[in-house]
Amino acid sequence: MTRRRTIVSSRELDLLRRLLMERTEELERVNERLFLADQVKTDFLSHMSREFQRPLNHIVDFAQCLREGAMGPVTREQRICLDTIIARGKRLQRLLERVLSLCNDELGMALFLPRKFPVREVLDHVMDSLRGAAGKRGVELHACCGEDGCTITADKGKFTFIIEELLTNALKFSDRGGRVDVAIDPVKRRGRGEELRITVSDQGRGIGSKELEQIFRSFEMGKRGQAEPGSLGIGLTLVKRFVELHGGTIAVESTPGIGSTFTVVLPRQGPAERVGPPPRVILADQDPERLRELADALRQERCDIITAVDGRDALDKGIAQTPALCILALDLPGIDGIDVCSRLKAHEQSSQIPVIITAPHRDASVRSRCAQAGADGFFALPAEMGDLLMAARGLIARKLSYDFLKRNYEIAASEAFTDPLTGLFNLRQFWLSLDHELKRARRYRRNCSLAMIDIDWFKQYNDCHGHLRGDEVLREAAAVFRGCIRTSDIAARYGGEEFVVIMPETTRELALLAAEKLRRAVEEHLFPLRETQPGGALTVSIGIATFPDDAEDGRELVEAADRALYRAKEGGRNRVVAAVADGTD
Ligand code: GH3
Ligand code: MG
Ligand code: MG
Repeated sequence: MTRRRTIVSSRELDLLRRLLMERTEELERVNERLFLADQVKTDFLSHMSREFQRPLNHIVDFAQCLREGAMGPVTREQRICLDTIIARGKRLQRLLERVLSLCNDELGMALFLPRKFPVREVLDHVMDSLRGAAGKRGVELHACCGEDGCTITADKGKFTFIIEELLTNALKFSDRGGRVDVAIDPVKRRGRGEELRITVSDQGRGIGSKELEQIFRSFEMGKRGQAEPGSLGIGLTLVKRFVELHGGTIAVESTPGIGSTFTVVLPRQGPAERVGPPPRVILADQDPERLRELADALRQERCDIITAVDGRDALDKGIAQTPALCILALDLPGIDGIDVCSRLKAHEQSSQIPVIITAPHRDASVRSRCAQAGADGFFALPAEMGDLLMAARGLIARKLSYDFLKRNYEIAASEAFTDPLTGLFNLRQFWLSLDHELKRARRYRRNCSLAMIDIDWFKQYNDCHGHLRGDEVLREAAAVFRGCIRTSDIAARYGGEEFVVIMPETTRELALLAAEKLRRAVEEHLFPLRETQPGGALTVSIGIATFPDDAEDGRELVEAADRALYRAKEGGRNRVVAAVADGTD
């Protein structure tokens, strides 16, 4: 039970600083290569930045708090570290916007436009663009295209991205005097159509087996050599995504010290099917002729059409079915098209859905009302059918790419703040949450309690049944905690077999009751092989401390809970003990 506890150790700070540096470099690189200064729809950016930047803002704010000494004195080394975190964090905030716009518009992630083109064309283009960088690094760059006039049916932008990204990585991880090879050959495998194999090999330092497993995961920064951090995050994730969009596969082989080879195999005739479900489009128009014409044209674009009979119906379906686009006639019965549009844009669930309004004639005042309602387009039908379809394509692509980014963000955010084994918050998020809750408690003069939980005789369980079974118990224990605590409580894995629960607005007495409930739930839970544990059950000991009675800040609160936990262990385990208010425990 002897543990050194400081609010944030130098090692943690260093880790945080490295993490930020890696991410910044990654973003800078993507940003450099596909620089995009265009204006992006404000709704998209504002939404994404709100979601994406929140955790980042937390880090920067927290670092600033620490820097100002709000949580106790910091050493000179820590201050230098914090300055880097703050500077990098702020830079990252700015870069985020660019990367988001880049992903959305430039790459047009979900916009998939396969066509036939000669492979050589792309290869030459990429080689030209990278020759300078290769020369500077002193790395030889060789390309070989196995068959003259070899063609592929693919999305050219994405195909280019795949090759460019793999080559850029290979160069980055090559030492001076090294060599990078790219070869593109047609291959024929049994039971498969014609395929194209792209291999990119380097003689760099190689990738460790741990990193290999993670290499294609989003925002999972590659750590190929500490000196050159963070080059394999977003880029490789996108490469994999693009390869899969084409119905292809990607694999990597690497021997540390010898080099790495990435192999991509793509079907030459393009993917058989569009990947992913067809985008849903809601159509609302009273005129059956116009409705049919629009529906037919959109079905040809592989859209899934949902029709609405009037304005109310369009609004309900727009909110409930999360379509990729709504096309509404101006003169809908009940609520008119413009009104439906404003209501969709005002509703949180549908605010990102693009809306097109149609009317029989062009009319400047209607157009202006549409714009005011936040509509993404206004077209006269049937005269502007062609223009409408073109706009619809772009808007659908934008919405799909927005959904894709949002999904990826959610995954990345949850990975950054949760413990992968148990799904509870990790240590970093625990400190951030505790800081936040104590600030609130201080401001509103409330209590905030902390439970520190340690599994009893866990080493024995591991020794008897192995680490994997032990891990299973940790996962189940986390689920028991989750099921027991209130929604306002925050459970985190402190480390190993230790957990913490922050209980905002909770006095010592209430915290004791809550902890006792938790202790009993664990004792009664049928953990596998629990009968082999002392007393025939798997149990926990819990220490409780309460702000402001037992501590003035987070660090003291943890220490007080820890001391109470120690007493619970000494007192025989499987029990809850509260801190003694004067700290003499
Ligand atoms: P006590 O009742 O005093 O807490 O006894 P204990 O055996 O639980 O405590 P001790 O601190 O001696 O051992 C903790 C054990 O937790 C050691 C280690 O094997 C195990 N452990 C820590 N992290 C993990 C993990 O991620 N997975 C697994 N399976 N075991 C872990
Ligand atoms: Mg322990
Ligand atoms: Mg233990």
